[in-house]
Amino acid sequence: MRTEIKVSGIVQGVGFRPFIYRIAVKNKLVGYVRNRGDAVVDIVVEGKENNVKNFLRELKAKKPPLARIYEMTTNFVEGRGEFEKFSILESSKEVELSGSVIPPDVSICDECLSELRDPRNQRYNYFFITCTNCGPRYTVIKELPYDRLNTTVKDFSMCEFCNREYKDPSNRRFHAQTVACSKCGPRAYLATNDGQPVKSEDSIREAGRLLEEGYIVAIKGNGGFHVAAAATQSEPIVRLRKVKHRTQKPFAIMARSIEAMKSFAQVNTDEAELLTSYIKPIVLLRKRDDCYLSELISPGLHNIGVMLPYTGLHYLLFDEVSEPAFVMTSANSPNRPIVAENQEAIKRLGTTVDFFLFHNRNIAQRCDDSVVRLHGQAHSIIRRSRGYAPEPIHLKQSANSCVLGIGAELNVTACVLSKNKAFISQHIGDVENIETLSFLKNTVNHLTRLTNSEVEVIACDLHPRFTTTRLAQRLGNELDCPVIPVQHHHAHIASLMGEHDVDEMVGIACDGFGYGSDGGAWGGEILFCSQDEFRRLAHLEEQPMVGGDLATRYPLRMVAGILHGNAAVEEWLLSLSDRFPHGEREVEVVLKQLRRDLAVKTTSCGRVLDAISAVLGICYERTYEGEPAMKLESAATNGADVLNLTPTFEGATIETTHLVREIFIQRDECSVADLACSAQSYLARSLAQRAVDAARRNGVKTVGFSGGVAYNEYLTRVIRRTVEKSGFKFLVHRQVPPGDGGISFGQALSASLQT
Ligand SMILES: [Zn+2]
Ligand SMILES: [Zn+2]
Repeated sequence: MRTEIKVSGIVQGVGFRPFIYRIAVKNKLVGYVRNRGDAVVDIVVEGKENNVKNFLRELKAKKPPLARIYEMTTNFVEGRGEFEKFSILESSKEVELSGSVIPPDVSICDECLSELRDPRNQRYNYFFITCTNCGPRYTVIKELPYDRLNTTVKDFSMCEFCNREYKDPSNRRFHAQTVACSKCGPRAYLATNDGQPVKSEDSIREAGRLLEEGYIVAIKGNGGFHVAAAATQSEPIVRLRKVKHRTQKPFAIMARSIEAMKSFAQVNTDEAELLTSYIKPIVLLRKRDDCYLSELISPGLHNIGVMLPYTGLHYLLFDEVSEPAFVMTSANSPNRPIVAENQEAIKRLGTTVDFFLFHNRNIAQRCDDSVVRLHGQAHSIIRRSRGYAPEPIHLKQSANSCVLGIGAELNVTACVLSKNKAFISQHIGDVENIETLSFLKNTVNHLTRLTNSEVEVIACDLHPRFTTTRLAQRLGNELDCPVIPVQHHHAHIASLMGEHDVDEMVGIACDGFGYGSDGGAWGGEILFCSQDEFRRLAHLEEQPMVGGDLATRYPLRMVAGILHGNAAVEEWLLSLSDRFPHGEREVEVVLKQLRRDLAVKTTSCGRVLDAISAVLGICYERTYEGEPAMKLESAATNGADVLNLTPTFEGATIETTHLVREIFIQRDECSVADLACSAQSYLARSLAQRAVDAARRNGVKTVGFSGGVAYNEYLTRVIRRTVEKSGFKFLVHRQVPPGDGGISFGQALSASLQT
């Protein structure tokens, strides 16, 4: 009996062919297995019927841990007797099906780690140790099929030892494309900050020692460079902040072990499970009260982003030092993608760092670390990148056409929606200049090729002046396909609906800014969304933003806007005039503009949180996205809702002026923690109550919460409580970021329904 099988899914780069080889031989079958150019695997087996059946059973039941089978077709025919044995054939270039893809990068497996530590092993101390179960994938592949020649390891020809393992069916590295050792593989080396090589027998451990001595080292990894420094010393971090012009933005750190992590942060079992999974993301953990790391790592915040070593190189770094953790921040200049090439690193980072730890393997795809926060057991993904991309989100319903969603402006990702799968790219960043724009374009190309997708429709933001909107129009012309703009907050809710396969929902979409259907600045919205429409049902009160973007940067301007006309407030603002770049003069100009009612207005929830943060003296200047609101949440962690303000509505408006006024009046009477908590509580309860009313009136059973504000654990918890107590179902994101990293997915889904 002969059976011809096609398997689609994540079946290349996961040890699938070696696995097929083994079960075929075990079941006494002849034939072949091969990779194809569309990421599908072809199998032909011949043998006794019983053996074939057993083979098929094992194929499904015992597949390698990283393999995902999306579809499998089997064709049973008469045996032809053309094979003498079972073999792994050279890959075919055939491209026929879409929807398969290669896996994300996988952190070092336990077997490779124990070999790294075993003095008798050929790869003892070898930093680029990998096997069929682990190593870079998405960042190493240039094109399909997943063969060594199509990866950036092709420049290193295997030594005899590696080659023997590669060809040995009983070996874990049988057909492992990234196999290498210290004799034949990539090499790591130290260099000064102008790129001059530094002689060292043991360059990686030497880099670790340099970090402990207080030097700043840029370290090349699998998806780009990190900038590293000791985590218990403030001097290098002060220096790093100074040269990077990053006064406050939190740095991620890498801890040597989970035990070390527990000495400075609280780690519960769910967090530990995620931290040690093959994804190894950065997880936001609550700092312990006795946290002894430098306060400069995440100033003013109650939590800290921590990850574990995920490559052999990372483990070696910690070997000869006592530091519990290193700062490990993505190496990128503002608004530029993560640095990936050695020359680029010298040019961009040379003035920031003291040393480089290079290796001589190229990076095919840049990819930042992923960042996740746990709300109870729920994963709130802040950045979905390494370890996740390009694994798809599965949808219950098939999309009407193949749509490319291109994101908004900040935290952009791209999304290719094809049939019942959505492939979301790695984190691209803020697309405001040419470098990130070309990173986005390359990623779109890479993703459509890897998934063999033909884009029929392009979806973008409704904002006419976004760089991504212009890119969408250009691509639309090039590919001759329609471009469908999708309103920002509608895209947030559409992505939530798509993730949970819900047909209609009342969605609370709260963030900093999104271009509204009426051309206004939206950001605190309650929307009704269904398969064929969205309607704005309610929103936060419109508040003036004096000076537009300046009001985002300096939240005292928001306070001025919200409470203007009040003599006590104006006096208070003047007393804080040193917090305005141009002092008293600036305060006077701001107040004058308000009297003349010249400012644009916004319904943004983020801007109200910013204003509260400024009234309470928590944050006067926003130096990174979300800073005042994040610090407000941190300040509120041990507070209570002492004010218990009653939600007030005026037509479709949720009032916020009296909230800010009340906080202002009480600012010297109550603690900052209690007032911060009271303000968050008011916003959460009033949004939830308004959404519940809207759901009831519209006969909708589900209420959802999306947008960047949904990262706030307290707000999410209070909204959930209110919604569920009223008898409605409450949904938040689980697989897609609530923030703008999830916009491309929502855009694609919404546009697909319009075709
Ligand atoms: Zn391994
Ligand atoms: Zn070798």
